[in-house]
Amino acid sequence: MRRLLLIAFVAALLASPVRAQDRVNVVASFSILGDFVKNVGGDRVNMTTLVGPNGDVHVYTPAPSDAKKNAAAKLLVVNGLGLEGWLPRLAQAAGSKATIVVASNGIAPLKVGSETDPHAWQSVPNAKIYVVNIRDALAAADPADAEVFRANAARYLGELDVLDAEVRAAVAKIPPERRKVITTHKAFGYFAAAYGIAFLALVGVSTETEPSARDIAALIQQIKVDKIPAVFLENLSDDRLIGRIAAETGVKAGGTLYSDSLTDEKGPAPTYIALVRHNIKALTSALGN
Ligand code: ZN
Repeated sequence: MRRLLLIAFVAALLASPVRAQDRVNVVASFSILGDFVKNVGGDRVNMTTLVGPNGDVHVYTPAPSDAKKNAAAKLLVVNGLGLEGWLPRLAQAAGSKATIVVASNGIAPLKVGSETDPHAWQSVPNAKIYVVNIRDALAAADPADAEVFRANAARYLGELDVLDAEVRAAVAKIPPERRKVITTHKAFGYFAAAYGIAFLALVGVSTETEPSARDIAALIQQIKVDKIPAVFLENLSDDRLIGRIAAETGVKAGGTLYSDSLTDEKGPAPTYIALVRHNIKALTSALGN
């Protein structure tokens, strides 16, 4: 009887809703980080993102409402590696006391020329490092809920292990000579390094620059010489140029890859896991025989 009462008591505790004032206010700089925070924080965090679904975090301009969100936050989770060039402006404007959590801390950065490639989340092993950093930051900000964060993170890290194995199995089925594609900007360097598909791009690691006529001509030449099987669009930048290149070279347009942003709930990539699954499906269907 006593045991039953205890079980009922624990069940009631677990079921009781978390009061709003007990939740940690967390701001994430863009949608992919927001998804990691939601998975680890669950109902113990109030999470807002600055750059929402289908937004371009490279060329973002903080709005006054963002300064307000940031001022109320205990944690501000950012990617780092130079992705959020607008962050110092936001931090100055907001007078925020939020602790800045650099989610990419501990990954091995890749260089493209003299620039650091910020898109580290495109390798699932790196995403796991992000999740561990977020878990530890949440636990430090809200020690009373540390066990919840650890349990949530353990479950999610397990899902990421499954995802990583899926990507490797999918790439293994693509003939090695066909493991190369074109995208709009260099967002898949970490994916390439982790999984062995080569990505050529029209522009560099940021979407801020426009390709020159010479860049375009060189890429068209390379597509022909390297016999690139497919070009892909991205969900964040103007892709008319990639469409024209596909038409001009006769290369297959492989659809859309999701690089720097999730989609909304109705889109094909509302979560990080859905994003990676969508990308790998698009790659294998375009590159498989
Ligand atoms: Zn990018």
